[in-house]
Amino acid sequence: MRIVFLGAPGSGKGTQAQRLMDEKNIPQISTGDMLRAAVQAKSSFGIKAKEVMELGKLVSDEIMIGIISERLMESDTDQGFILDGFPRTTKQAEDLDLLLQKQEKPLDQVILMDVDHEILMKRIVGRRTCSITGKLLNIYFSKQDELNACTKAGGELIQRKDDNEDTILNRLEVYRDQTEPLIAYYSKRDQLKKVKAVGSMDEVYQRLLDVL
Ligand code: AMP
Repeated sequence: MRIVFLGAPGSGKGTQAQRLMDEKNIPQISTGDMLRAAVQAKSSFGIKAKEVMELGKLVSDEIMIGIISERLMESDTDQGFILDGFPRTTKQAEDLDLLLQKQEKPLDQVILMDVDHEILMKRIVGRRTCSITGKLLNIYFSKQDELNACTKAGGELIQRKDDNEDTILNRLEVYRDQTEPLIAYYSKRDQLKKVKAVGSMDEVYQRLLDVL
């Protein structure tokens, strides 16, 4: 199963991709997570990527396709993969096609996680990670008990650096300008499936399984 997850920031694609990875035993390849790891490691590339990410802009296509082509050579992708956050531009999608053609591993499906703009804002601005458990929470949508459980245990509710309101507006604009054209790109080839990404995590996951 070779899948791409498309969706705006905050559409929940990471969460659903992770769940699918656990169930199907194929790796979820999140370019955002890979970049954040490089930032954390303070490599020279990570230092450059950090600035771009904090502005809500995109890292260059050349760098991204380099990262992905290396990652797709690893043997854990032999049985399939879930690309989460890649491709994000038409150039990345075209280069991915070429790469997969060479490897004779074409994409099976592209899943679009579909959510309204307003909900996206709350999802992103409210997103927090508990510093102790790593659990993903949301100050608007999580139960108060869950939020309290983290802070009472001495944890902090940490907000991602690029989850502040200015950066988010930028990220949503970048999504509209550069990533949304991919919906038409994959629809033309009859590869795109839409999943309504509102409601509980379980409901969305069930819809996802239904279209796969
Ligand atoms: P994400 O966690 O997927 O929202 O990604 C966080 C940030 O990493 C994005 O706002 C971009 O700055 C960068 N990024 C992740 N994936 C890509 C990509 N495919 N192309 C360019 N930049 C990316």
